[in-house]
Amino acid sequence: MTRNKLRLAIVGAGPAGIYAADILLKAERNFDVSIDLFDHLPAPYGLVRYGVAPDHPRIKGIITALREVLDRGDIRIFGNVRFGEDITLEDLKKHYNAVIFATGAVRDASLNIPGIDLEGSYGAADFVSWYDGHPDYPREWPLEAQSVGVIGNGNVALDVARMLAKHAEDLLPTEIPANVHAALAASPVTDVHVFGRRGPTSVKFTPLELRELGELRDVDMIIHDEDFDYDDAARAAVAGNKQVFVIDKVLQQWRQRETGQASRRLHLHFFAKPLEVVSDGDGRVAALRYERTAPDGEGGVVGTGEIREIPMQAIYRAVGYHGSPLKGIPFDKKFGVIPNHEGQVLMRDKETGQSRQMYGVYATGWIKRGPVGLIGHTKSDAMETIKHLINDLGNWWRPESPSEESVIEMLEGRGIRWTDLDGWHRLDEHEQALGAAEERKRIKVVPRDEMVAISRGEV
Ligand SMILES: Cc1cc2nc3c(=O)[nH]c(=O)nc-3n(C[C@H](O)[C@H](O)[C@H](O)COP(=O)(O)OP(=O)(O)OC[C@H]3O[C@@H](n4cnc5c(N)ncnc54)[C@H](O)[C@@H]3O)c2cc1C
Repeated sequence: MTRNKLRLAIVGAGPAGIYAADILLKAERNFDVSIDLFDHLPAPYGLVRYGVAPDHPRIKGIITALREVLDRGDIRIFGNVRFGEDITLEDLKKHYNAVIFATGAVRDASLNIPGIDLEGSYGAADFVSWYDGHPDYPREWPLEAQSVGVIGNGNVALDVARMLAKHAEDLLPTEIPANVHAALAASPVTDVHVFGRRGPTSVKFTPLELRELGELRDVDMIIHDEDFDYDDAARAAVAGNKQVFVIDKVLQQWRQRETGQASRRLHLHFFAKPLEVVSDGDGRVAALRYERTAPDGEGGVVGTGEIREIPMQAIYRAVGYHGSPLKGIPFDKKFGVIPNHEGQVLMRDKETGQSRQMYGVYATGWIKRGPVGLIGHTKSDAMETIKHLINDLGNWWRPESPSEESVIEMLEGRGIRWTDLDGWHRLDEHEQALGAAEERKRIKVVPRDEMVAISRGEV
């Protein structure tokens, strides 16, 4: 008897997509599997390559584990192929039994305060994409401000603040692109101000990220005694939560530190609710106006009515990421995710108006769950999605052209300059060779055309 075969498309070669492929291939099942992984970038690994900060080599090292999965050779990669433009849902239905969307989230969530659109006001995601050498972002970044603000109290806010405050020569051993290093080296920044609405015991960043700030060479950490007048809820959080305990300990140590010698300062402002980005009259950022908040006794905060202002010439909002809609796939605009039940995509039934499963379509990672959590969380996420995919065998699509060759014919027929795993190896080696010439581990190739040409062995 011939066994069933699952031809699976996964859209998104970030950690979520790669883990999903790996988990399915290793899962107990009574059918064969053949997986094609599509990504609109010519390089895999998603935000591990284009989000994780370059001075976090330990986290970037997760790429080694993801690479081992790809190098096993049982997953085909089609890079430089964008779902919604180069391929559609109809195409996938024609060639596969099912699709998993693992397209993550790359846009900045919005922050609706007056002045947020002034010149000099940026989204953290755009800045991150620039310093991580994302091919679809401008290569120039205006770093002209002496005083800069960062709104947010999560790990991305701290990444942005650290990258702005760190001396460029200390980033040289990392994989930052040459243009990024040159721009940071010329930055006149002296003060970076980080603003959080709540107190030190309610932050979203992790102790490791915080501690790193205190290790920056020639950068003073400036914190304010007025932020440490804890109420009962804050004291309970310190006593009852290990993470909060460590964060508090780090901050308390910094309170005792001598400051005044460093050429740069990184200020942490807690209980500071941004109200307005103030204009200089010519449409440029001149200051951040914020309201001092106070604990409300229940773990939250309330405004005190006390308004303060700090002059600055640039501001970055790091208030979260947001997923993007995909053509033909349901999308929850509010949360920026594909609506789903444990990874099974849900659609609205036209007749009944009720929500029901969209057969053959699954989601995993940040586009399934929203942009929270670390890389490791995408693994448990993928397990849940794969469990349903396996159990749904009876509801898979029945493609008319399921052969592996037919997909290549389709891409070739459309003139798409797709890249494959060998191509990624070529690009990877090329980047490492560029790095070796300057005694660095890697120098990223940034322009998309160049990435594709190197991958396809055309240069
Ligand atoms: C700035 C920043 C720093 C971070 N630092 C850390 C850290 O230090 N440690 C940690 O554990 N986690 C960190 N994270 C979190 C981590 O990056 C995420 O948990 C993880 O990347 C989410 O994986 P994902 O696969 O769902 O999405 P992604 O990593 O975003 O991958 C999605 C993939 O889908 C592709 N794609 C999107 N749209 C399409 C389309 N239409 N067609 C084809 N392909 C498409 C993208 O090109 C991308 O390759 C960080 C996140 C950010 C934003």
